[in-house]
Amino acid sequence: MLAAFSYVGFQRENCTVGEDVEKLKQRLPLLDYLQQQSWTARPIAFGPEFVGLCPLHPETRPSFYVNACKNLFYCHGCGQGGDLIRFVQLSRHLSFRQSVAYLEQRSTVPTDSVAVLEQAAIFYQQQLERHPEALRYLQQRGLRDPAVIKELRMGYAPGGSLRRHLTVQGYSFDLLQRLGLLNPQGCDAFYRRVIFPCCQGGRIVNLYGRSIAAAFAHQFLPGSKGGLFAWESVRQFPTVILVEGLFDLVVLWQAGFRHTTCSLGTHLNAEQFQQLCGCPRTIYLTFDGDANGSGQQASQQLAQRLRAQGIITRRVILPDGHDPNSFFVQGGDARQFHSLLEAAQT
Ligand SMILES: [Zn+2]
Repeated sequence: MLAAFSYVGFQRENCTVGEDVEKLKQRLPLLDYLQQQSWTARPIAFGPEFVGLCPLHPETRPSFYVNACKNLFYCHGCGQGGDLIRFVQLSRHLSFRQSVAYLEQRSTVPTDSVAVLEQAAIFYQQQLERHPEALRYLQQRGLRDPAVIKELRMGYAPGGSLRRHLTVQGYSFDLLQRLGLLNPQGCDAFYRRVIFPCCQGGRIVNLYGRSIAAAFAHQFLPGSKGGLFAWESVRQFPTVILVEGLFDLVVLWQAGFRHTTCSLGTHLNAEQFQQLCGCPRTIYLTFDGDANGSGQQASQQLAQRLRAQGIITRRVILPDGHDPNSFFVQGGDARQFHSLLEAAQT
């Protein structure tokens, strides 16, 4: 379905630039970039394709397709297609070189970004207890174990206060904006969101913000979402439960299923996939049992890909319309969930 776009001519002209561009595209997958731009899409039945409204032309019926494996897009409405660089050229009206420079800047974490993200996470953690609306939301989502909240370093972004807190500490406005903690208008990017720091090698690489209101539920800072959530503490287990949402992970940890990790969505990036395949293990895929079946479809496809790598997979079927979080919130307990694991399909 997707035309094969590449920059063969360009690469012939300039090999080093071509290699750098390939690395850049690996570092910042097209689908991740689009989702950071708030593009919403649904997966299509066969293969790693997604469809949604075209960000490049006005339309009411989705005709914009993304192939997450090939890292390419194509729109049947306006006929535009290509890779990440092409998308940035079209959407931001930049030249090829300008687009590469823009993406390089977005995907390169400045040297002191680790410290800033750490400070932001500490600040958000402190806010959690000061905001009853956040605690109420956690309660609604079935969270009651303060030890798990602390261990995952969960926090709350009330909005309108991080900028002052960090600039007082000497972090430049420019740096905060580049990291995405401030939006282009200079205001806190996270507003009324529960925050989960995503860590890798003990360092925070991104922040995930879950809105406590209905609109725009998910948000990350620019850049990669990193590997599997809390992988460092889960990788030791010969059996792993994989869920798609952090609130699924939290209730499972709370119920004693500490061998649960989370892919933050049903599409695994290359790094997450590699982590699962790192050593022989059994993986219980526990994606949402949503009404349109997209969670189950994604889980079937992932099971196939994992099996091809020699990994044993089981698909956990939740009651209709449930995700692991709602299963526990609506009265399910550890024993019942254990029965679901035992009944999981090969
Ligand atoms: Zn279009």
